[in-house]
Amino acid sequence: MTQTIKPGLSSTSATFEKLKCKECGAEYELQAKHVCDFCFGPLEVRYDYEALRRQVTRQSIEAGPNSIWRYRPFLPVATDNPIDVGTGMTPLVKSKRLARRLGLKNLYIKNDAVNMPTLSFKDRVVSVALTRAQELGFSTVSCASTGNLANSTAAIAAHAGLDCCVFIPADLEAGKVLGTLIYNPTVMAVQGNYDQVNRLCCEVANTHGWGFVNINLRPYYSEGSKTLGFEVAEQLGWQLPDHIVAPLASGSLYTKIYKGFQEFIEVGLVKGKNVRFSGAQAEGCSPIAQAFREGRDFITPVKPSTIAKSIAIGNPADAIYALEVAQKTGGNIEAVSDGEIIEGMKLLAETEGIFTETAGGTTIAVLKKLVEAGKIDPDETTVAFITGNGLKTQEAVQGYIGEPLTIEPKLDSFERALERAQTLERLEWQQVLV
Ligand SMILES: *Cc1c(COP(=O)(O)O)cnc(C)c1O
Repeated sequence: MTQTIKPGLSSTSATFEKLKCKECGAEYELQAKHVCDFCFGPLEVRYDYEALRRQVTRQSIEAGPNSIWRYRPFLPVATDNPIDVGTGMTPLVKSKRLARRLGLKNLYIKNDAVNMPTLSFKDRVVSVALTRAQELGFSTVSCASTGNLANSTAAIAAHAGLDCCVFIPADLEAGKVLGTLIYNPTVMAVQGNYDQVNRLCCEVANTHGWGFVNINLRPYYSEGSKTLGFEVAEQLGWQLPDHIVAPLASGSLYTKIYKGFQEFIEVGLVKGKNVRFSGAQAEGCSPIAQAFREGRDFITPVKPSTIAKSIAIGNPADAIYALEVAQKTGGNIEAVSDGEIIEGMKLLAETEGIFTETAGGTTIAVLKKLVEAGKIDPDETTVAFITGNGLKTQEAVQGYIGEPLTIEPKLDSFERALERAQTLERLEWQQVLV
């Protein structure tokens, strides 16, 4: 398959100008390219903030579609007709019961477990990447995935009529594999961990000329995560929170929420303030948390071993930028065990009615740990980012939750079962009290 790369299409309202190296500042045309030729630093999209300031107001955003595309001037696509599958504008829930349980007064849950179309935050980055892939003339799209990205790329490619081939580690949860196959892409299950999948994909990207959403299209893809920050600011009534807690895999999501807040300040949509950025990792894959704990500004790659597969990246691409954000905002990056992750999933479900996957369990467990350590103030307006849906990682909680009470279709069978259940509940309470 061949690819024709057109130079960045520019419409009169285009607000993005160049790709720029985050390290040496070298600039490039708006092509499918993610690494600097001179210093191998990552490339990022540069915008014309003066133009943005002129074009965008709170009212113009509020009048936009009920999706991430209400923020289109802040996203690196030129078209006025992006792929809109209803991604974004997920609920920001003011927590009552979880907040009370943790002793927080102003806790919010940003719930991307119900994002469209595939129930994770990845729908944001893929909607942007595939819209840009079409603009750049790609007919085949691909990704190196820890699971959710494959779901999202396959679904949105199907919607857009693009050919799709995704790469996943062979040991993923059944729900993530099935939730990819249903869209009928080509799925390569690689016998190796995500970092090996990613290395392979870098080679394929060079030889096949496909649009890899998180490799050669990464500068565009990663911008999609800013919309999580934009939505939170808008949903809080055009204000920034005091503190956020988000999961870290490559570190992209976390650093881009930060970039989103900074851009809203830059163009005058919200008042400037320091938002503390805290990050969550699983102990079984916590290179960024380890570096943070030891005060290092670089990471040592690890071999992942955790149930939190969607965030199991042993050599995270944006680690140094994530560390920088945590340090300069006064946040913390913490890791929790697989047991704590399961407890985190159950806690969120039991208190808020939100069934999240292992990554969300990680976030809630770290939130709890930070509160207990006094690192989140009870009065701070705190937002926890729930990035994926628990129906996709059912294996993780199997055996750790209750079972249905099987009864005969008779009233007395029900009454006996109910009595047994209530006795059990009393016993559990007594155990809690002793
Ligand atoms: C991919 C993913 C993340 C984090 O991804 P980054 O690589 O750090 O941007 C977090 N949560 C879930 C559920 C994910 O699938």
